[in-house]
Amino acid sequence: MRLRNITGSREVISLSPYVIREEMQPECAGRWKEIFGRNVPIFIEAGMGKGKFIHTMAKLHPEISYVGIEKYSSVLLRAVSKMEQEELPNLKFLRMDAEGIGEVFAPGEVDRIYLNFSDPWPKDRHAKRRLPSREFLARFARIIKPEGRLEFKTDNRALFDFALEELQTSPAWELERFTFDLHNDRELMQGNVMTEYEEKFSAMGNPICKYILVRKPG
Ligand code: SAM
Repeated sequence: MRLRNITGSREVISLSPYVIREEMQPECAGRWKEIFGRNVPIFIEAGMGKGKFIHTMAKLHPEISYVGIEKYSSVLLRAVSKMEQEELPNLKFLRMDAEGIGEVFAPGEVDRIYLNFSDPWPKDRHAKRRLPSREFLARFARIIKPEGRLEFKTDNRALFDFALEELQTSPAWELERFTFDLHNDRELMQGNVMTEYEEKFSAMGNPICKYILVRKPG
């Protein structure tokens, strides 16, 4: 993303009613239902970018509470602008590195996790930074409830192959479904909401890979 250094974006974000203030983040763990003021499932997207996917999902599913996580305030700013144009009561944002997710959500507090077009970090020494790595899968396993789903989409075949391999060393997760060509998989396409990157890369003719994992009980 080329938006990483927009001047003043941190200040705008810190004043936005849609973004949980950074100093409040540790107090959120175990309190998300209270924050949204209702007892409904919590779905999150880690690395949401400009927020097109999560904003659309929140609009389509008012019965779910959504939390979008993005590392860069200059990118998050775009998601905030979208909310200013069309406010949704069931969507909140966190500006944070998803590495710290276990401090912001309590064990079993989350019902579903979306990873969409996660950064590939192509160098081997950066493998731990990839969101579908074993390290991140272990973090996600702690906050998701038993039987909860994690859905991952990407057009990057090397990243997807890596993600499938990481499952061998991620005992908390079971592979439920996968495809190397989502847009030609009628079943997995049901209810599919395109992300910003998905629109861009599928328009270029790239097949989209997707898997769905289930959190094993225990
Ligand atoms: N999910 C969006 C989509 O599909 O259009 C954006 C994809 S973009 C390639 C990946 C986004 O994830 C970037 O905005 C990046 O800043 C964010 N990101 C990468 N690693 C992250 C992390 N550890 N924590 C939070 N956000 C992260």
